[in-house]
Amino acid sequence: MNTSVLSFDIEEWYIEKAYFGAKETKYAEYDRLLEELLEKLSSAGLKGTFFCVGKMATYFPQVVRKIDAAGHEIGCHSNIHKWLNKMTYKEAMEDTHAAVDALEQCISKKVLSYRAPAFSIGSSNKWAFEVLAANGITRDASVFPASRDFGGFPEFSKMEPTVVRYNGIEIHEYPIATTKVLGKDMAYSGGGYFRFFPYSFIKKEMKRAPYSMTYFHLGDLLPVVSGVMSKEDYERYFEEPGTKKARYLRYLKFNVGVKGNRKKLFRLLDEMTFCNISEVEKKIDWAVAPAKNI
Ligand SMILES: [Zn+2]
Repeated sequence: MNTSVLSFDIEEWYIEKAYFGAKETKYAEYDRLLEELLEKLSSAGLKGTFFCVGKMATYFPQVVRKIDAAGHEIGCHSNIHKWLNKMTYKEAMEDTHAAVDALEQCISKKVLSYRAPAFSIGSSNKWAFEVLAANGITRDASVFPASRDFGGFPEFSKMEPTVVRYNGIEIHEYPIATTKVLGKDMAYSGGGYFRFFPYSFIKKEMKRAPYSMTYFHLGDLLPVVSGVMSKEDYERYFEEPGTKKARYLRYLKFNVGVKGNRKKLFRLLDEMTFCNISEVEKKIDWAVAPAKNI
C-alpha cells in the first residue's frame, strides 16, 4: 500500500478574530485562499481532511460548511487552538466536547477525526487519547514521532496507521511520517518542513514511503513574509515568554521557503495521488494493522 494522506488545519479566521484585530481584509484574504484551494482540489480530483477549530463553526460556520459541501472530511482541531499539553484533563475534556459539538451541529454530520494544535499530544499527556475517545473521536492525527519545539512524541516510533491502546480505549492513529536526514528523524511533508526541503526530495520520499501524512495551512499559499511578532502578540498567542530568541526562531520557521510555496504545493497536488483519512480508514485492515500500547 502506498498511501499519502492530504490534510489541512483550518484556524486562520478565528486566530485573526481572537488575537490580531478581526480585520475584514484578512477574512477576505482567507476566503479567497480557501476558494483557490478548493478549486485546485476539485480540478485535481482530491479529497482532504480539514481539521477545523470548533470556534470556526461558531463564528465562521459558512467556511466550515463550504469545505464540507465540497466533499472534504471535516475533522476537529480543538476548540480554541490551545495546545493540549497546556491544558488540564478537565480543560481538554471541555474543549474537545465544545469543539466536536459545534462542528457536528454546523455540518449535521459526525466528526470522527482529530488533530491537536501543534501536534501537542506526547508522552506527558497520553490521557488526551482518553479525552478524544470520550468525545466520539475514533481516529487521531496528532502524533509527531520526532522532537519539535512545540509538542512531539519521539517515543511513539511508529510511522504508519497504528491502533493506539491506552487505559482500555482504542484509537486509530495516523502519525506524521518522518525520514532520516543526516541521521536525524525529520518530517518533510508539511508546514515549515515542506517549505524548507526541495520539491524533488519531498516527492521522492512520498513515493518511496508506504505511508505519508501531509499537513498544510492556508498561509502556505501566501507569498508574503510576515514580520517578527511583537513581545505582546507573541505572549498572548503562545502563552510563553516572548524572548527575542523565541520570537526570531518563530519568525524563521514561519518564513522559510514562503516564496514559491504555493506553486510547490499545487505541483504536488497535480503530480501525486492523495486521499483523506475517512477514505484511508476503509482501506486499512485494522485487524492486522500495527498496534501500540502507550
Ligand atoms: Zn493549528
